[in-house]
Amino acid sequence: MTDRKLLMIPGPIEFEPAVLEALARPTLSHVDPAFIASFGNALKMMREVWLCPNGQPFVVAGSGTLAMDMAGANLIEPGDKVLVLVTGYFGHRYAELLKRYGAEVTVLEAPLGDTVPLDEVERELAYGNFKLMTFTHVDTSTGVFVDPRPLAELAQRHGVLSILDGVCSIAGEEMRQEAWGIDVAVTASQKAIGVPPGLALMMVSPKAMDVWKQRKTPVGNYFCDWGLWLQVMQAYEEGRPSYFATPPINLIVGLEVSLKLMLSEGMENRSARHIAMADSFREAMRTLGLSFIPVREEVMAHTLSAPYYPEGVTGAQLLPAVSKNGVVIAGGLLPSIKDTYFRVGHMGMVNVEHIARTTIAITEALKP
Ligand code: PMP
Repeated sequence: MTDRKLLMIPGPIEFEPAVLEALARPTLSHVDPAFIASFGNALKMMREVWLCPNGQPFVVAGSGTLAMDMAGANLIEPGDKVLVLVTGYFGHRYAELLKRYGAEVTVLEAPLGDTVPLDEVERELAYGNFKLMTFTHVDTSTGVFVDPRPLAELAQRHGVLSILDGVCSIAGEEMRQEAWGIDVAVTASQKAIGVPPGLALMMVSPKAMDVWKQRKTPVGNYFCDWGLWLQVMQAYEEGRPSYFATPPINLIVGLEVSLKLMLSEGMENRSARHIAMADSFREAMRTLGLSFIPVREEVMAHTLSAPYYPEGVTGAQLLPAVSKNGVVIAGGLLPSIKDTYFRVGHMGMVNVEHIARTTIAITEALKP
């Protein structure tokens, strides 16, 4: 596969050879002691990656959407009020998802490329009688970064649970779930977690677990019910086999490898590397005269960039030309402006060589 192109979309990403090698090993039984050890280790390491020593991790077969669904299914009861902060496509989707469980959803939508002002959030939280607030750490459709700290702080002050959609951030952007007071932080394997698509992952605070335990109605989604998964997660951490639904064995073995690599780099070094890679990529794009959807430096994600096409250039021209130069990047995603911008992922194992190859591929493709 020497002519394989470099995958620089915002997920799935390039994966470490050691992770791919782990996935290719013969599949073990889900009750094999070696698998039990891998699954248990992976769950323990998740607490270090999310920086949530008292959290309850869950890993199930699925994607990020399933992780969002699981959080909603377990925390929402019909009639519960939820505040959804929208900074792009994935926030809108969360609002729709939560309505399926009977939530009464209020949406606060940020101006394009920006975040919802904190005073607006505070005003809603003060009078809205909300049970839950959701926000997207990095919205992959706009490249907008939301600082979770002041939001989680506001949610706590108003007695509201918080769910962070970290599908495009966790293990890339700085994340200190417990110190910041975030109740549920969800993600998927195929982005900065560094494992091919197929795992839904989340970390749940003791407070959110208590709220779930006090539900008056059963969880309206069988596969997603934390009650059915909790004993599985606890058993594997304690070195015992358990079963509710067959786990994706190979992906979990790959997850153990990826989390180990991540922790040996160190979470602070890892988020610093993401900042450095994002800065150098954007500097190169600015040299080409490009500007970005996020309107200010502080709201720019470090896991992807979303530049506008230059005058007179379309996606139909640029994307195939970049691909011909050996690099795969993505088009726009937010329906209203889809054809005006493109997206480049720089997360996970991303290094200076990836950034250089991508910069050269785009620069060459833009030459008249
Ligand atoms: N939220 C965000 C911020 C995402 O980027 C994505 C995937 N691009 C999702 C949710 C949905 O995840 P998945 O495609 O793995 O279901």
